[in-house]
Amino acid sequence: MSAPNLGLATTPERMRATRIDRFGGPDVIEFDRQPVPRPGPAEALLQVAYCGICRHDLLTRQGAFPRSLLPVTLGHQISGRIVELGSTVTSFVVGDRVMTMPLVGCGSCASCDTENDAHCLTDNPKFLGEDYDGGYAEYVVVPERALVAVPADVPLATASILTCTFGTAYHAVVTRGELRPGELVVVTGASGGIGSHVVRLASALGATVVGVVSSAQNAEVALAAGASDVIVDPDRRFAEELRTRHGRRADLVCDVVGAPTLRESLRSVRTGGRVVVVGNVLGTEATIPPAYLILKEISLLGTKSCTRQEMLAVLELVRAGTISASDVDIHPFSEIPALHQQMEREGISGRAVVAIAGAELAGAGF
Ligand SMILES: [Zn+2]
Ligand SMILES: [Zn+2]
Repeated sequence: MSAPNLGLATTPERMRATRIDRFGGPDVIEFDRQPVPRPGPAEALLQVAYCGICRHDLLTRQGAFPRSLLPVTLGHQISGRIVELGSTVTSFVVGDRVMTMPLVGCGSCASCDTENDAHCLTDNPKFLGEDYDGGYAEYVVVPERALVAVPADVPLATASILTCTFGTAYHAVVTRGELRPGELVVVTGASGGIGSHVVRLASALGATVVGVVSSAQNAEVALAAGASDVIVDPDRRFAEELRTRHGRRADLVCDVVGAPTLRESLRSVRTGGRVVVVGNVLGTEATIPPAYLILKEISLLGTKSCTRQEMLAVLELVRAGTISASDVDIHPFSEIPALHQQMEREGISGRAVVAIAGAELAGAGF
């Protein structure tokens, strides 16, 4: 069976790709010409349209995950179109518009059977752009189980940032936090790359969201994301202020800051409420009084990544216009090292993507 005529050039022998061959600063990212990889039986070859740049990429490059392959091509927030399929792939065809999941489980344990690869019972799901070459390249091979079909009316640039922004937020707020419309939700770190998306999703789903931020400038970001109220709290003592302003404690706290705010998050939540720990920006440890958990019967929950089913739910929310992910910052492929440098200096917006074949594919109707 021949592939459909897509009006595009056939796959070349070699491609432009970035590689790192050692851990370090942004200068370890080098452009190179590499052979275009070929898919194995349960894999697909994608022509990369866009690749999002995520905090995780910076950490991998810095050596925070020493198990990472070296040399390796970074990048796990990929969108593109399928140009070649392995022999056992049945759920996709050549030409499909797809995006990728970052975690890839073993595919044969009880968790992977339910498509929850983050819970893979090997305890060692693989990470795209770390255990496999990723999407800072013109082509990438991706396991079938890490592919998600992108609806025709969701732009590929938008799709490329969804897993680590709204996907992470959906898993935290809906699946772990069990948000119900009308609830009072506190989000710490509400102006950051993940925090602002948690605010956007929770408010779009009918919650009253109070953002906690560290400066007046950041308050604007949280308000623009949909927060009804913002507490500017550089000293991390927001529990009392919440009660003063709203007359009660929160039903759900999404703590995106982690150790520096966790104790105050527990003080902010009502008896029987839920605290979901979404991030830990400093990587430090926290001391919390177990009595809070016992006497207030608080559910303290972790959250990690998202599942393919959750990603499909997010794509549907985007398609329906319930959440907007249209403000993607698109940069040229050549700017990857400069973007890493800028993100290290100025923080992560969660919106930065590089266009690889983006314009070419858009012009061809993808
Ligand atoms: Zn597994
Ligand atoms: Zn990510």
